[in-house]
Amino acid sequence: ELTGMNGQIEFDHVAFSYDEERTALHEISLNIKAGQTIALVGHTGSGKSTIANLINRFYDPTAGSVKIDGHDLRDVKLDSLRRGISVVLQDTFIFSGNIMENIRFGRPDATDQEVIDASKVVGADDFIQRLANGYETEVEERGNILSAGERQLLSFARALLANPRILILDEATASIDTETEVKIQKALQRLLTGRTAILIAHRLSTIRESDNIFVLENGKILENGSHDEL
Ligand code: ATP
Ligand code: MG
Repeated sequence: ELTGMNGQIEFDHVAFSYDEERTALHEISLNIKAGQTIALVGHTGSGKSTIANLINRFYDPTAGSVKIDGHDLRDVKLDSLRRGISVVLQDTFIFSGNIMENIRFGRPDATDQEVIDASKVVGADDFIQRLANGYETEVEERGNILSAGERQLLSFARALLANPRILILDEATASIDTETEVKIQKALQRLLTGRTAILIAHRLSTIRESDNIFVLENGKILENGSHDEL
């Protein structure tokens, strides 16, 4: 049971394979202090999302262990783990329904006012107010009336509302304009406050937010350090 999760994460000599042919992670050891923000960077296929998958316990390691607050994830109840972690994915999950319902996803008990407050904090309220019916605007599955940047802000509002101890952001690679990037950067700073965060980062501006950056190559940690050190 992870009641009152602190959010300290440890990988102890973790190896993982999705199949017999290839090893996705080799001997990964890393320690993320509660409240720290770390970035995972590296080429496509280097193992960044796989690390996120193991923290979420979508899979168990082939060797070694993943621990949160010192507890091996194999000994932790899945629902208590899931309550403590929010994931913001490369492709924001949008379902058909209105904007309000989409942001409330993951916190079904949240009031309309709480949804609006979270949207204001991350700067999503501006674009939502400009939509035909504001928070009541219907969106299709995959959110095709929203730009990539708007979908990202919506997912930040959703994550803020869920208020997890651990936040995992698999950053979208989609190109967004500079103005939106600035908004996303501000939103991210608000979102990171007071939690442990793992940023799978593509933008330099995101990487700079991190206390520690891990460079992955072929499932191994090549080096780590602050932005200035690397
Ligand atoms: P990207 O920047 O493209 O998102 P990544 O660093 O997140 O890349 P991973 O998704 O962690 O890379 O993939 C690591 C390795 O595991 C790759 O060789 C990939 O082909 C393989 N892999 C990822 N997901 C699966 C899966 N579901 N089944 C089998 N192999 C997979
Ligand atoms: Mg990935």
